[in-house]
Amino acid sequence: DDITAELKRLESDVAVVDARIARDTERLAASSNPKQAQGFESELASLTRRKSDLEDMEIALMERLETADAAVSEQEALIAETNAQGAQLSADAKTTVSDATTRLEGARRDRDAVAASVPTDLLSLYERLAARGNGAGLLRAGACEACRMVLPPSDLATVRRAQTDEVVFCPECGAILVRTEESR
Ligand SMILES: [Zn+2]
Repeated sequence: DDITAELKRLESDVAVVDARIARDTERLAASSNPKQAQGFESELASLTRRKSDLEDMEIALMERLETADAAVSEQEALIAETNAQGAQLSADAKTTVSDATTRLEGARRDRDAVAASVPTDLLSLYERLAARGNGAGLLRAGACEACRMVLPPSDLATVRRAQTDEVVFCPECGAILVRTEESR
């Protein structure tokens, strides 16, 4: 915008010089006084130099304008690209949130179904444990999946001796140990 404004100023300067050249040319043509004519000629020569200087400045400014326009276009393209990326990320985020919400709702339904099949006292024990740490962990390959600790052999032997309907706990984290086929 600054360059464009400067160019307009130069153009109006050139117009002023052109008007003076036209006026002096007319006066020179009409003049019959040699001394006066010489004065017009010298003024015309200086006006022509001035016009040439102004035109050189115009050319330099036009080159700067071209460079600046290219830079603006480049930035505009970058802004458009960034906006498109932003829109894509925003859409992706919405999909992620929506997927997670669907999974969460599914997990809640599954949990409710499982909880309904668990005896009340066991469920409340689980909920007490879960409120302050690990509620339950699958016992797999001799390790508690809630805390990832491998049970010492003596503890493992105790757990293995326990009745299937007995509630056993992880000696490390206190979680209820869930025993399945994978626990053997
Ligand atoms: Zn544990």
